[in-house]
Amino acid sequence: MTEPAPRPATLPDAQTVTQVRHWTDRLFSFRVTRPQSLRFRSGEFVMIGLPGENGRPIMRAYSIASPSWDEELEFYSIKVQDGPLTSKLQHIQPGDQIILRPKPVGTLVHDALLPGKRLWFFATGTGIAPFASLIREPQTYEDYDQVILTHTCRQVAELEYGRQLVESLKDDPLIGEMVGDKLRYYPTTTREQSAKMGRVTDLLRSGEIFTDLGIAPITPETDRAMVCGSLGLNTDLKEILEGFGLREGANSEPKEYVVEKAFVG
Ligand SMILES: Cc1cc2nc3c(=O)[nH]c(=O)nc-3n(C[C@H](O)[C@H](O)[C@H](O)COP(=O)(O)OP(=O)(O)OC[C@H]3O[C@@H](n4cnc5c(N)ncnc54)[C@H](O)[C@@H]3O)c2cc1C
Repeated sequence: MTEPAPRPATLPDAQTVTQVRHWTDRLFSFRVTRPQSLRFRSGEFVMIGLPGENGRPIMRAYSIASPSWDEELEFYSIKVQDGPLTSKLQHIQPGDQIILRPKPVGTLVHDALLPGKRLWFFATGTGIAPFASLIREPQTYEDYDQVILTHTCRQVAELEYGRQLVESLKDDPLIGEMVGDKLRYYPTTTREQSAKMGRVTDLLRSGEIFTDLGIAPITPETDRAMVCGSLGLNTDLKEILEGFGLREGANSEPKEYVVEKAFVG
């Protein structure tokens, strides 16, 4: 039997889905081919989408969850049942095409932070996506002595994508040695019972997180932070980080912490 011919790229900026994995009824991840010309900095986001009913594409912002050196692009997505994009996107299969505008942007990048010793990644929900990229980025381990990834979700199953990724890094042939024991992982749940319960904001305010990790509290001299969650979490974390003396940076003006919305609404 002859192999079927590859489907022609009929969409503008079309990329082909190579892998799909469903984590829960509200979360899935997928990989697509990478446009040859696409260069991005780990932590950035792009616009991806599908053709709409009226021929106009439905496009949404998505953090690239894979590192800048990866041959493919990975995304980690919510499934909003009546969401214009994700009500359809959740049904993609390997071989399908999505639209990907190759114009990466974003503030969760190393360039937006001043040099430091400890780097914090604070994520809730799909906000772990940019950090899934950055924990696989060699520069993260070249620039910092210690990297702490916190991930807070309602249910234990919602932590699984991050947990498996962190676990896999130890044996990763490309980056495993660099990661070594520099990466600390601090997952918490807010609804379902788990080993560590609570909002990361409360755990920071009480200092419990520092006791749990056996480390000194955050200071502007040593610590840098990136935050990606809901608007509410981002606002609260900004206040907490400012309370520790950190200032918000940007690509044009690097400082001690940076923030990006995991979604609008
Ligand atoms: C900078 C940026 C980066 C983003 N990166 C990602 C990403 O990596 N993965 C991802 O799944 N989404 C991401 N989003 C959100 C994404 O753009 C879409 O909102 C999401 O895919 C849902 O699209 P939709 O058309 O189905 O529903 P929309 O009409 O866009 O959203 C409907 C409602 O669903 C809720 N919602 C949307 N996205 C999320 C989410 N991620 N988590 C929880 N609730 C949500 C909100 O209440 C929103 O009002 C990002 C958004 C921004 C601004």
